[in-house]
Amino acid sequence: MKYDKLNKIFDKKYIKDALELVFNEYLNDNYTYSLFREFPLKKIEEDLHQTFLSLTNEDKNEAKRILFKLGRYFYENNLPFSFFYDTCAKIKLFILKSGKLPCSENADEVEEIFDFVENTFSYGYLTNLMVEDKNWVRDELRVIKNSESLLKVYVRDHLVWLNKVIEDIRKLRAKSSVELNPNKCDFGKKLVSGILDPILSSKYKNLITSIHAKIHRSASEIYFFMEKRRFKNLLIEYINMIKNVGRLISTIGLNFAVISESEAKIDPLTGVFNRRSMEIMLINQLSISKLANTPFSIAMIDIDDFKKVNDTYGHLVGDCVLRKLAMIIRESLRKSDFVFRYGGEEFLVLLPFTDINSAKYVLEKIRKKIEENIFNCEDTSLKITVSIGVAQYTDNILSIDTLLDEADKKLYIAKKTGKNKVII
Ligand code: GH3
Ligand code: MG
Ligand code: MG
Repeated sequence: MKYDKLNKIFDKKYIKDALELVFNEYLNDNYTYSLFREFPLKKIEEDLHQTFLSLTNEDKNEAKRILFKLGRYFYENNLPFSFFYDTCAKIKLFILKSGKLPCSENADEVEEIFDFVENTFSYGYLTNLMVEDKNWVRDELRVIKNSESLLKVYVRDHLVWLNKVIEDIRKLRAKSSVELNPNKCDFGKKLVSGILDPILSSKYKNLITSIHAKIHRSASEIYFFMEKRRFKNLLIEYINMIKNVGRLISTIGLNFAVISESEAKIDPLTGVFNRRSMEIMLINQLSISKLANTPFSIAMIDIDDFKKVNDTYGHLVGDCVLRKLAMIIRESLRKSDFVFRYGGEEFLVLLPFTDINSAKYVLEKIRKKIEENIFNCEDTSLKITVSIGVAQYTDNILSIDTLLDEADKKLYIAKKTGKNKVII
């Protein structure tokens, strides 16, 4: 670009007219009025004016300095960069339409000048944006560094990766120092190899894979734009990339939160609810029944002579029996009933809105089903029986512990009087 031609293209007075026209229009525009209420529109107009004056004076460095600073100013004051691009587009249109250009080739030169203006501005904006992002990455890395979370390994990879990309942009290194292929970066390798599968639900895995690919796609574009010094495009792609890194991290975090939340509720061996969730559910049920004045029943189910099963067949068979027993109990109940693992070989069943006679009927059926079932575990087939104590919530029962005590007493009676029976 030969800037000595600029004198001919950009008549000084003419450029001032163009700016005045565009900026006067802004004064009557509600959007820009509210946007710039606290910031001097005049400053932007003046900066642009100085920029064009410097360019016509062949002082490209001065123009660069002004635009770079203006870009930073926009970022610092939270002003939208699109406003700057719009303004440039308006001025450019004014010049191109004026018919004052000496010849048609000058149109290309006008384009080139505006590319320079927008790119230098964008570079300034980007510089400040990257400072903030670098701080963000550093803080996130510090947070997970001291955590015990499994999450650390997976989130860390992409934060470190992002840090390097930002460093490349800052140093204007068009040759990347990171892996751009999404299947070959540290995180991508883990995703492809399937080692993340046990901790990623399939729904989240697809989402995470697609966000991850988008991040890499943006990064490739960024290096391409960097080589061409097209900072306006680079800025937009950079923002896109950062947005997706944020999405990636929060999606991974959400996945972990969902997993650990369900782990906190479910007994890992039998797949039924654990004792902790039992306490919460029973308290809820108690208050519902109190309010609605409706009954509910609980039943404590304990395997008879389970110690012998373990002693005779081993712990693996014992575990397998527990799993299958839990399944039988669950399948014999309604969807609105709940099964909890209360202790080693004890289960607790919650039957909402069920009085003790109906509860006895249901549990007798379960007891019989278990008695008749053949448990095929490992290479052994065996039969077991259970004893069951049932208790019903009534007005005089004030706490969950009283209710559990009562069921436990009935269970004790069942054990003392020959086992394999339901006592109410
Ligand atoms: P009772 O008829 O009086 O209930 O006799 P029991 O042998 O079933 O009762 P006891 O309380 O003496 O023994 C319970 C046994 O359950 C002891 C323990 O080895 C076994 N057990 C508890 N939890 C597990 C488990 O997770 N897996 C296996 N395999 N066994 C378990
Ligand atoms: Mg027991
Ligand atoms: Mg037992």
